[in-house]
Amino acid sequence: MRIDKHKNDCCGCTLCSEICPKDAIRMKPDVMGFLYPEVDDSRCIDCGLCAKYCAFTPTYKTEKNLPQPIAYGGKHKDPANIAKSQSGAAFVALSDYILSSGGVVYGAGYGEHFRVVHKRATNESGRDEFRGSKYVQSDMTGVYASIREDLDNERIVMFTGTPCQTAAVSSCFARHKLRQNLYLMDIVCHGVPGPYMWEAYLQFLEKKQGEKLTKVNFRDKGYKGWHSHVESFTFAHSHTYTYTYLFYSHINLRYSCANCPYTNLRRTSDVTVADFWGIEKSQAAHLGEDNKGCSLFLLNTPKGVEWFGKIKENLLCQEVRLDECMQPQLMHPAELHKKRDQFEADYAKYGFAYVRRKYGNVGINRIENAIKKILRPVIKKYKR
Ligand SMILES: Cc1cc2nc3c(=O)[nH]c(=O)nc-3n(C[C@H](O)[C@H](O)[C@H](O)COP(=O)(O)OP(=O)(O)OC[C@H]3O[C@@H](n4cnc5c(N)ncnc54)[C@H](O)[C@@H]3O)c2cc1C
Ligand code: SF4
Ligand code: SF4
Ligand code: SF4
Repeated sequence: MRIDKHKNDCCGCTLCSEICPKDAIRMKPDVMGFLYPEVDDSRCIDCGLCAKYCAFTPTYKTEKNLPQPIAYGGKHKDPANIAKSQSGAAFVALSDYILSSGGVVYGAGYGEHFRVVHKRATNESGRDEFRGSKYVQSDMTGVYASIREDLDNERIVMFTGTPCQTAAVSSCFARHKLRQNLYLMDIVCHGVPGPYMWEAYLQFLEKKQGEKLTKVNFRDKGYKGWHSHVESFTFAHSHTYTYTYLFYSHINLRYSCANCPYTNLRRTSDVTVADFWGIEKSQAAHLGEDNKGCSLFLLNTPKGVEWFGKIKENLLCQEVRLDECMQPQLMHPAELHKKRDQFEADYAKYGFAYVRRKYGNVGINRIENAIKKILRPVIKKYKR
């Protein structure tokens, strides 16, 4: 039986299209830029491989997992690393071990004009592009073939991504003879906004500023610390800040995010990392006091425990109980905004400027203006 999914049941991981032996599946973007598979009946031989490998199902496999994860609050010992990462630089500590073992690292980086795509890195500078949360769905096209080549060449491989992407990678290589060389790290995830909105938003900012963007940061800790949600955008000749209501209101999340089977402790990776929200009420409270960022580590498999053991000396960390670190996205999927359907219909019909005015006016205009006021001296300084 070939794949036949409703929008709620497909996370866009692209695995089915890569696994199809007849090249019968194309990933097609919808109006928001989310990818969905489309089967060409004239090529399909009904082999059933696409449906068999698809991991976006409540029965996804976790047979290698411990009975329950072991949880740690932890952050990198080097403050410079914490400053450059989203939370406590858990990803850097874990990937440093892989790189120093001669391995390769896959993560979410940038394509042309800040399009968010999954990429491969073999050294620190390549890996560093993956640092920082990008609140847009990243494109996984080509990643499975590249990982296969690395595993076939006996390389150690680390894959990092959302739980649905990690589940797909795990499913793809479950039977690979060198599966033990594949290290999986997922993030706790509340959902992903669509790529076309992101693209339109950047075009809007560039037009408004009259300059090309040179750098983006979806959650700039340098401004108000780890707890804040302030985006920063660096332009060719100036630096400015803004805040986007649209990206945090769940109004443009992928439909499958509200039906996500992975928002629990049955993780699809060896190690899960997250922002340790609620750290102040846990035994690890002392690690979060500086508001610079602290990670939550969930060690899900014996391999994850061993991996963590290799990097522990680079961390300040404290074991915590699971009930001390539960956050909503470890318990249930995000709820879509009640105007999600209307938002998409309006976007399709009238475009970004219209939905920004209609749905983003409270968030964007007021906060943007307020922040601009505060930052006017900073902006002036950069313009000089
Ligand atoms: C869309 C999204 C939703 C998230 N939701 C939550 C949440 O609800 N609760 C929570 O505690 N944490 C959430 N996080 C994770 C959190 O923000 C941090 O990314 C995570 O704790 C890692 O921090 P770090 O300092 O170890 O990593 P960093 O050094 O900052 O590295 C970032 C890591 O995240 C990966 N990544 C970045 N953007 C994407 C993307 N678009 N798709 C796939 N992988 C990506 C990179 O490959 C890299 O491994 C979310 C992240 C993203 C991208
Ligand atoms: S979840 Fe992935 S494998 Fe399943 S149908 Fe969607 S794109 Fe294909
Ligand atoms: S059933 Fe087989 S041939 Fe048909 S689309 Fe799926 S993987 Fe391809
Ligand atoms: S919420 Fe679930 S479906 Fe959505 S991106 Fe995250 S892991 Fe994937």
